[in-house]
Amino acid sequence: DKYKEGLSKTRKSFSEKINDLVARYRKVDEDFFEDLEEVLIAADVGVTTVMELIEELEMEVKRQNIKDTNEVKQVISEKLVEIYQGNDDGSEETSLNIQKDDLTVILFVGVNGVGKTTTIGKLAHQLKSEGKDVLLTAGDTFRAGAIEQLSEWGKRAGVDVIKHSEGSDPAAVIYDGIQAAKSRNADVLLCDTAGRLQNKVNLMNELAKVKRVIEREVPNAPHEVLLVLDATTGQNALSQAKTFSQATDVSGIVLTKLDGTAKGGIVLAIRNELGTPVKLVGLGEKITDLQAFDPNAFVYGLFA
Ligand code: GDP
Repeated sequence: DKYKEGLSKTRKSFSEKINDLVARYRKVDEDFFEDLEEVLIAADVGVTTVMELIEELEMEVKRQNIKDTNEVKQVISEKLVEIYQGNDDGSEETSLNIQKDDLTVILFVGVNGVGKTTTIGKLAHQLKSEGKDVLLTAGDTFRAGAIEQLSEWGKRAGVDVIKHSEGSDPAAVIYDGIQAAKSRNADVLLCDTAGRLQNKVNLMNELAKVKRVIEREVPNAPHEVLLVLDATTGQNALSQAKTFSQATDVSGIVLTKLDGTAKGGIVLAIRNELGTPVKLVGLGEKITDLQAFDPNAFVYGLFA
């Protein structure tokens, strides 16, 4: 399926290396764990997460008295899912918070180039094929070409785009988007925002203002604030996530370009170090290449 196909680069490097380790060591000892640590770090699982994982693995190996490296493989995948799910019972809601009868407002944040516009286009297409009336708002009034690009995606997905001219106030565009959505009884409003990080104070002020407008105009909105991150940027994505989490309440992560990296382990690092769920993953450039994130399928995809 799409999921497995999109993860093929990560799967190839990751499971090849693990299999290689298992064949080389046969017996579980300290050196085995040291090499395993390296494989995990190379897959961008993140140092903190790797340390935690190795510690848990060592305990589990002792507890079950495992000697054979082949058996450890199974424990690794179990622990990866556990790590992803954190300390909760695994029933965490990873699906989008879409309202049944009222307008749903979703705000997208993230730096330029991560795939924000593309993701909005893909999600618009997906929601529309589910029968929802979707509207887009071109809230990135800063980057040259951003409005035009969102309009293109609007055309592709067959949904309308509310826009102002370049350089105008993003909060004003989003206000207009909300009014348009209300007057036509739209189901979902997807709002783009500017992604400059050079000036953190500006970014925070702008996001805060946009959020205030949404909160004032629609009860309980925004229903999601999705931070879009580029998986190919590895640990850099993690530091972006930290910056944005300080600027606004992020409810979920969209991890794009997982198809373009062998370091898909970043999913685990993000989840474990930020505590924010990954809700969607981008697995290609096509309009259909967006999938809901499923931790079990993900970890299975790494080993399959
Ligand atoms: P924005 O500046 O954040 O709005 O980024 P764009 O949406 O313009 O995307 C930047 C580039 O990344 C474009 O060339 C997209 O086609 C590409 N892109 C976005 N998502 C994905 C993905 O999931 N996989 C791949 N391979 N490319 C993607």
